[in-house]
Amino acid sequence: MATILTLAGDGIGPEIMTQAIDVLQAVNKKFALDLTLESGLIGGVAFDATGEPLPEETLQRARAADAVLLGAVGGPKWDAIERSKRPERGLLKIRSELGLFANLRVAKLYPQLANASSIKPEIIKGLDLLIVRELTGGIYFGEPRGIRTLENGEQQGYNTMVYSTSEIQRIGKVAFELAQTRAKASGNPAKVCSVDKANVLEVTELWKQTMIAMQEQDYSDVSLSHMYADNACMQLIRDPKQFDVMVTGNLFGDILSDEAAMLTGSIGMLPSASLDEQGKGMYEPCHGSAPDIAGQDKANPLATILSVAMMLRYTFKHEESAQAIEQAVSDVLDDGLRTLDILDKSEAGLIQVGCKQMGEAVLAKLQ
Ligand code: NAD
Repeated sequence: MATILTLAGDGIGPEIMTQAIDVLQAVNKKFALDLTLESGLIGGVAFDATGEPLPEETLQRARAADAVLLGAVGGPKWDAIERSKRPERGLLKIRSELGLFANLRVAKLYPQLANASSIKPEIIKGLDLLIVRELTGGIYFGEPRGIRTLENGEQQGYNTMVYSTSEIQRIGKVAFELAQTRAKASGNPAKVCSVDKANVLEVTELWKQTMIAMQEQDYSDVSLSHMYADNACMQLIRDPKQFDVMVTGNLFGDILSDEAAMLTGSIGMLPSASLDEQGKGMYEPCHGSAPDIAGQDKANPLATILSVAMMLRYTFKHEESAQAIEQAVSDVLDDGLRTLDILDKSEAGLIQVGCKQMGEAVLAKLQ
């Protein structure tokens, strides 16, 4: 028996989580997975209830669980509170407390949604790339950091970008091994593109040297290329299909993964996984809490439902149930069902649905 802790969070979190839980329960039954679900508090709702965006109880239960499924956190209600108590702090804390150092985001284009992207269909047709982002180091966590007052009275903000060899090696290992797995599944050669700014930042010079050494020693079957972060931003728009696995640090990964997300048309379609060294993970949609549409049954639940598929694949190693969910999502898109964010009003035969109806349609395909 394995336990999954669900943390719905704020804004559209509860709506999308309800649909994802129904899908998870359906595959749990269908494939006799023996998964037990629990729920807990995180984000603004947790702050309201306990004064903390990540209550100790949630953290303990997350540590004890085999996987965590998260909705989203944050919203204008909590924007003005003290920084350390903001919902987003709860998210950063759970990631670092659980040692979730590897963030995986797949940018895969469902052919049915080729027109939802702002990029020409021929550039993105067949797109399926994976961004592996280091999540618990780099400039988001480096010390010293702060805002100080200089002798002349002027204020100065500062942060520190640091990576040690072992941190680079453990994220590199994830990227190289996933490239091998993906190559096996697709029949294409295994390739990794490491993104850095080795021309100006010493920290990423070490990053690049470490990746080269790893490839030479342990992953000679994977072809390794390097790209500066600014060029990678351009290349993702110009010719995204040149990439298979991209690996990069926390800051560049934050930017590149959102850019890759938009290649596929809607952030409402994109799942993510954050893994620790044992493969335990937290799974969540790439989007935020969308306060502008919260409570209106307008949210797209597919990113969260697809996060469940990632959980089954990466933590529970159950490829069949993961693929069943992905196929069910593809089937409802084939049927023309669209939430507002992926609705192309110029395309004939599409049916606009809300969050609930979309979730129920996926469920029906699974049963
Ligand atoms: P957002 O992703 O919440 O929303 C951006 C836009 O995308 C909005 O127009 C929203 O309506 C739309 N959108 C997002 N998810 C959608 C979905 N599933 N279906 C349909 N449309 C969707 O980003 P934001 O507006 O910058 O941030 C809102 C709040 O979310 C902030 O408080 C922010 O800090 C927080 N946030 C949380 C996370 C997280 O929990 N992982 C990530 C990003 C932002």
